[in-house]
Amino acid sequence: MHIELIFLGTSAAVPSIARNHASILLRYFDELILFDCGEGTQRQIIKAGKSFMKIRKILITHYHGDHFLGLAGLLQTMSFNERKEPLTIYAPKGAEEFFSIIKSLCGNEFGFDVEVKEISSKTEIKEEKYRINFVKVEHSALTYGIIFEETRGREFVLEKALALGLKPGPLFSKLQRGESVEVNGRVIMPEEVLGEEKKGVKLVYSSDTRPCKAIEEHAKNAFLIHDATFGEDKKDRAVETMHSTAFEAGSIAKNAEAKKLFLFHISPRYENASVLLEECKKVFENAVVAKDLMSVSKFD
Ligand SMILES: [Zn+2]
Ligand SMILES: [Zn+2]
Repeated sequence: MHIELIFLGTSAAVPSIARNHASILLRYFDELILFDCGEGTQRQIIKAGKSFMKIRKILITHYHGDHFLGLAGLLQTMSFNERKEPLTIYAPKGAEEFFSIIKSLCGNEFGFDVEVKEISSKTEIKEEKYRINFVKVEHSALTYGIIFEETRGREFVLEKALALGLKPGPLFSKLQRGESVEVNGRVIMPEEVLGEEKKGVKLVYSSDTRPCKAIEEHAKNAFLIHDATFGEDKKDRAVETMHSTAFEAGSIAKNAEAKKLFLFHISPRYENASVLLEECKKVFENAVVAKDLMSVSKFD
């Protein structure tokens, strides 16, 4: 499969023997994209058998240490490994200042270019085959959830094209790319031959949050990775610290009609996370508790 999701670290706030600090690696064809970079992420990448060098984008959802303290070490290792390819780091308001601190910790020098971009709710990363958007979620710091969506273009309706006098060939490709073409002196617009948008894989990462509408609204048909720091026994703590319980994560998945739910950001107090899964399944069945180094490549 051209998409692979690897949970590098799945713990909340502090690590445990079984769980590293928060980080998720997304492979899209050859490109690696990192969602958050908690302490120790670089060793998890090695354990996952992936190359740092293929990471082109690092997205930091908020400035809580468990989501970014691995960044300095990772960048330094990239530099030691003589990385030359540029890297883009996306982070919330204050991104430039944040990066300058990280850089100064590493002796103010990396052997490659790092572009720093500030995230807002309007930010869109648009590539040929996917787009990434950010939504503000409800946490104790300014935090953005990540919406990754494949964009596979619109269906080409052959019958419509033939009826307009087009013949299969280069003109078909032009129209598919969104360009107009001319046949027998008549200009044909792409809209005349293109149908529905082709469905691609959609991934939503809530980051740290209370259950919120912003995530629910975007998680329809998505593979949802949601904060599930606590169980119902600690719901008061979830409210206090602005996290979610596994049951609440399940409720969001149910209301949104998500395809599948990964419970993420698990408090070390739940050494056996099966209680979280049970509580979640009371409301949403197709759920799993994410584990460190768990790899997912089936998205149907
Ligand atoms: Zn966290
Ligand atoms: Zn946090």
